[in-house]
Amino acid sequence: MSKTISILGSTGSIGRQTLEVAEELSLNVAALTAHNNVNLAEEQARKFRPRLVIMTDAAAAKDLKIRLADTEIKVQGGISALSTAATLPGVDTVVTAVVGMVGLKPTMAAIREGKRIALANKETLVCAGELVMEAADRCGAEIVPVDSEHSAIFQCVQGCVDRGEIRRLVLTCSGGPFYGMSKEEVNQKTRADALKHPNWKMGPKITVDCATLMNKGLEVIEAMRLYRLPLTRVNVVIHRQSIVHSLVEFRDGALLAQMGTPDMRLPIRYAMTYPRRAESRAEPLNLLGCPPLTFTEPDRGTFPCLRLAEVAAAKGGTACTVLNAANEEAVRLFLEDRIRFREIFELTARAMTELPVIHRPSLADVLEADAEARRMVLKDFSL
Ligand code: NDP
Ligand code: MG
Repeated sequence: MSKTISILGSTGSIGRQTLEVAEELSLNVAALTAHNNVNLAEEQARKFRPRLVIMTDAAAAKDLKIRLADTEIKVQGGISALSTAATLPGVDTVVTAVVGMVGLKPTMAAIREGKRIALANKETLVCAGELVMEAADRCGAEIVPVDSEHSAIFQCVQGCVDRGEIRRLVLTCSGGPFYGMSKEEVNQKTRADALKHPNWKMGPKITVDCATLMNKGLEVIEAMRLYRLPLTRVNVVIHRQSIVHSLVEFRDGALLAQMGTPDMRLPIRYAMTYPRRAESRAEPLNLLGCPPLTFTEPDRGTFPCLRLAEVAAAKGGTACTVLNAANEEAVRLFLEDRIRFREIFELTARAMTELPVIHRPSLADVLEADAEARRMVLKDFSL
């Protein structure tokens, strides 16, 4: 059970919901971090009174320091300060809710200090999952997933003493806003169309990843790393209602699922209270009022990012790093209206085809592969 937490990315969708849960569970909030949303960071700091607030944008840090001058709260700036928030003495749990592989270094730093990681930042496990899991084993740091599918699986495997008894994991996928459309229709879609998710309200990067189905591909890799399973034992099904959050099939044929209305506060709360469960005011799922539950095969022809991620997952090593980094940059270009929807796939696929794969990479190899992939995607664009 967590008592004192640091939240990396407190102003984002997961960060804000984590603060709601922290309030509900009366947790101490020791550190908050944001990029440049000074207004919200100030509001959160005044309400939760952390010891430290980091703004990774230097100008934002300067501004916040002035605004919080009447308080005892320390403000620091810069990307490397994320690791200070992640390793703060007295903190037992670090919630990684920043977006993108900027989460890697602070997550590793927190793991080295043996802190519990409540992991939302899936990019970290995609770009360097083997290194992260090895470090967690070595340092005795628990990684408790926050991503709803992985939390569902985590909840289903409680009580499973031998992970060898898991036959396969089934990740559910809403299908995103373009489900059922033809390739031609999907290719016409704009930024505004992609930002309309049918079931979840999330930050812009993951919302676009849901529209391309890259999110589910990243989650396949995340699941392989968390549960140390090969690609052949991690399957994806489309489940439009987002009520079954994922399933585990055991070797005796039992299929366990975690169900509920789509609400990220449940997996966040469980990551805080694990291995216990806390009383919650959230409305439970009304089985009698719930729509019929359907499960279908994903359309990898119309949504080729899912297949691309599965190719990277099968190759392993830095293929996953390149996939993640190229996708991060391509999504950024798409959000800036500089490329079309289809080009997210094309640019990511090109980086994967052209860059070599290093198996069993060191952290330095991962950082180099990440930088190379970003350079390759951005080479035809002026910044
Ligand atoms: P948001 O975009 O809503 O929030 C991102 C947070 O990270 C904000 O606090 C933002 O600060 C901060 N941030 C942005 N850029 C940087 C940077 N370069 N350096 C440091 N901090 C930065 O994202 P979400 O909350 O939606 O997602 C966070 C993570 O959780 C992602 O990895 C996502 O895949 C994962 N996740 C999210 C889910 C959801 O429901 N939202 C579900 C499952 C997983 P600022 O506000 O100042 O810009
Ligand atoms: Mg998810």
